[in-house]
Amino acid sequence: MGVWYMPPFELVQPRDLDGALKHLADWATDTKILAGGTDLLPSMRQRLFEPRYLLAVGRLPELRGIAWEDDWVRIGAAETLNAVAEHPQLCQAFPALTEAAASVAAYNIRNMGTLGGNVCLDTRCHWYNQSYFWRKGIGFCLKKDGSVCHVAPGGRQCWAAYSGDTAAALVALEAQLRLVAPTGERLVPVREFFLNDGQRRFVLRPDEILTEVRIPQWMAGYQGRYFKYRIRQAVDYPLVGVAVLVRTSGPRVLDVRVGLTAVNPMPRYFDVPSEWLEDPPEAWVERVVEAVVRLARPLKTSLLVSPAYRQHLVRVFTRRGLRSLLALPTAA
Ligand SMILES: Cc1cc2nc3c(=O)[nH]c(=O)nc-3n(C[C@H](O)[C@H](O)[C@H](O)COP(=O)(O)OP(=O)(O)OC[C@H]3O[C@@H](n4cnc5c(N)ncnc54)[C@H](O)[C@@H]3O)c2cc1C
Ligand code: SF4
Repeated sequence: MGVWYMPPFELVQPRDLDGALKHLADWATDTKILAGGTDLLPSMRQRLFEPRYLLAVGRLPELRGIAWEDDWVRIGAAETLNAVAEHPQLCQAFPALTEAAASVAAYNIRNMGTLGGNVCLDTRCHWYNQSYFWRKGIGFCLKKDGSVCHVAPGGRQCWAAYSGDTAAALVALEAQLRLVAPTGERLVPVREFFLNDGQRRFVLRPDEILTEVRIPQWMAGYQGRYFKYRIRQAVDYPLVGVAVLVRTSGPRVLDVRVGLTAVNPMPRYFDVPSEWLEDPPEAWVERVVEAVVRLARPLKTSLLVSPAYRQHLVRVFTRRGLRSLLALPTAA
């Protein structure tokens, strides 16, 4: 079989979460979890993954539903990005998240792509997201089949950029993830889920399924925006993504958070120290902007724009978000 065809696999379609966990108990390391498949299946055609089994979780009832429960808003991991982006109460409560979900790819892809798949997205790099032949032509790379990183040739680390849009909002919102394995389950703050390593991108184990994303209800009082830079406006991964969240009470600014995606191997965040907020916004807005810019470390994982330009856009988006949400003049 030519390497441009989909590699062979067995599709496992359990009826419920228990059935999925039974499969993982025996075959976790031979299995990839399949949700909408909008990222995984193209990657398999590129021979980035050749799992023996695909475990379909998109229709599992335990991974569906959007509900206000106790102190949390629960979003099933298999809810589609359009279901999130168009949910009236979510749009009201968490506008940065719904704007980020609405910015992913294009409408038809968002009808298939899920929130869980977006969180668990693979990291991206010009030297990695290519066909098998293309990668073979350059001797592969450290992340898959090779031994050299073409972005930072001297080192042993992969710097591929985590490029899920919704994570920028989720880290700022202090969301939690429910991870369920055959041996039990755990709740992991999304801020502790990701690793700054393009190869080993998060703490999810092969035998774990992300079943739900939980957002604290007290975050519903925040205004929020999401800003994204991509090459093709109609359908593209972010090269920079910035979520800005602000909580105010009359003229007082109570809390400010910024989440960042697509410029590092993991999403980053900055919570503005409360003592800064005692001064008027004009005194600290630029300090926040520079603190966020310092978190961004874009490298040549994309050849479409320079790392310096992506860094510049982090500055522009953070400033734009803060000034618009704080109703400050935008010309400054
Ligand atoms: C043309 C195109 C443009 C795109 N543009 C964007 C974009 O702008 N922004 C963006 O963020 N993404 C983009 N994507 C990627 C993708 O469409 C989205 O990230 C989508 O949300 C992925 O969800 P999915 O359900 O399709 O995931 P899948 O492709 O099914 O899975 C993605 C990864 O997550 C894992 N996974 C999925 N669900 C679970 C779960 N419940 N538990 C554990 N692991 C799980 C899979 O094993 C796989 O590794 C684009 C894709 C295409 C083809
Ligand atoms: S950063 Fe280096 S190792 Fe990682 S995908 Fe790109 S070229 Fe490969």
